[in-house]
Amino acid sequence: MKKLAELYRGKAKTVYTTDNPDLLILEFRNDTSAFDGLRIEQLDRKGMVNNKFNYFIMTKLREAGIPTQVEALLSDNEVLVKKLEMVPVECVVRNRAAGSLVKRLGVEEGKILNPATFELFLKNDALHDPMVNESHCKAFGWATDEQLATMKALSFKINSVLTELFDKAGLILVDYKLEFGLFKGEITLGDEFSPDGCRLWEKQTLKKMDKDRFRQGLGGVIEAYEEVAKRIGVPL
Ligand code: 5GP
Repeated sequence: MKKLAELYRGKAKTVYTTDNPDLLILEFRNDTSAFDGLRIEQLDRKGMVNNKFNYFIMTKLREAGIPTQVEALLSDNEVLVKKLEMVPVECVVRNRAAGSLVKRLGVEEGKILNPATFELFLKNDALHDPMVNESHCKAFGWATDEQLATMKALSFKINSVLTELFDKAGLILVDYKLEFGLFKGEITLGDEFSPDGCRLWEKQTLKKMDKDRFRQGLGGVIEAYEEVAKRIGVPL
């Protein structure tokens, strides 16, 4: 597989074309951003940890029957993926109240949400990823009824798989963001699943083990990511 040209440089990953038009290479960089890219720092080992973390989780999800874009781990920082036509909305599932939900509704952080909630946000840094609903998605042509139903069903199926996986490792999966795209017409999980895009709290102490350590200046960011990886069995 030949790596060709840089296609897109995101806040934490760079996407490259390959000699196969259906496949891309994602390169995980050490860049860590918060507040819609306003704050960016380099964190040693982050690219490697997130790449291997993501590969491990995506493999578990594929084994559970979720269509994912991941094809093969290429190196410490690179993964080979299917080229998706991305749906420009983020799907957020929440098992506990935290982050923007706490700000928006004034509920107590940590409140158990039963059933888990499902929310949609438009991917747009300049607008700070505003919350949208299904009718916006349909009216603006971002996703069809059927695609939305599939994205929602897959998001909840992923919740069952991952809640159990993290629970066994003594961790609470508080919430997470997913991005889907289309591969040959099929809704497929894309982007990444890593501690950059989810909240994980230690069950006993409620210690934050995710990107909130960076957002809130708590320190020990990569050490926390590595601890989570070790507990769930990611080979680093
Ligand atoms: P919130 O809406 O509370 O800010 O985020 C909910 C969950 O989705 C959190 O786990 C957060 O990390 C993740 N999330 C939401 N939007 C983004 C985003 O644009 N980038 C990343 N990396 N994670 C996001």
